[in-house]
Amino acid sequence: MYKVGITGGIGSGKSTVCGLFSELGIAVYDSDAEAKRLMCTSQSLRESICREFGEKSYAGGELNRAYLASCIFGDDDARRRLNALVHPAVMDDFAAWAERQTSDYVILESAILFEAAIESHVDRTIAVMSPEPLRLARAMARDGAGEQAVRSRMACQISDDEMRRRADWAMINIDLDELREEVAQCDKKLRYEASRYGNRS
Ligand code: ATP
Repeated sequence: MYKVGITGGIGSGKSTVCGLFSELGIAVYDSDAEAKRLMCTSQSLRESICREFGEKSYAGGELNRAYLASCIFGDDDARRRLNALVHPAVMDDFAAWAERQTSDYVILESAILFEAAIESHVDRTIAVMSPEPLRLARAMARDGAGEQAVRSRMACQISDDEMRRRADWAMINIDLDELREEVAQCDKKLRYEASRYGNRS
């Protein structure tokens, strides 16, 4: 299965772009949501998280998000250790999921495609980009968050320049109608690439 990774900064429009691909019949894997699901449902992941961070990681059978968040807050090493447990489980799940899909290609949505070196699990990468003031306004409106809170989340992500440099393609999200058109064009190219990929294997 031909796999496409879509990434972008906070409020850039990743989910919006993925929704447009989905409307065109393309299966989308939301890695953030699936990571949360797997942390609750995967027995082996639960066990390794408990081994690494203690039994308090789960309370009454539920993931203790507040406790885990406090473990990794301001501690890059702890964050890396948690990611080292969660990311392989998510990538295994994505690979198995991708093989079950029937669309011409599949999309992996990830806010940390490059930061977590997930790009090696996909064949093509797309960065969704928007001017910073727009991203800020969208994220504040969507989350009801203050400017500083959004800016500090932005500061943890790689810059747009680096994202543009590392991604195969960049998609600019300002106007929704233009974005829809860009997604449709991109979908045609990806279907063509996927058909050639199918011929190769
Ligand atoms: P995050 O990483 O923070 O989850 P994201 O990159 O997935 O964000 P979206 O959730 O797609 O971004 O978009 C952020 C908000 O901006 C949403 O409320 C969405 O509806 C809105 N939005 C996105 N693109 C546009 C657009 N072109 N015009 C108007 N609103 C938009």
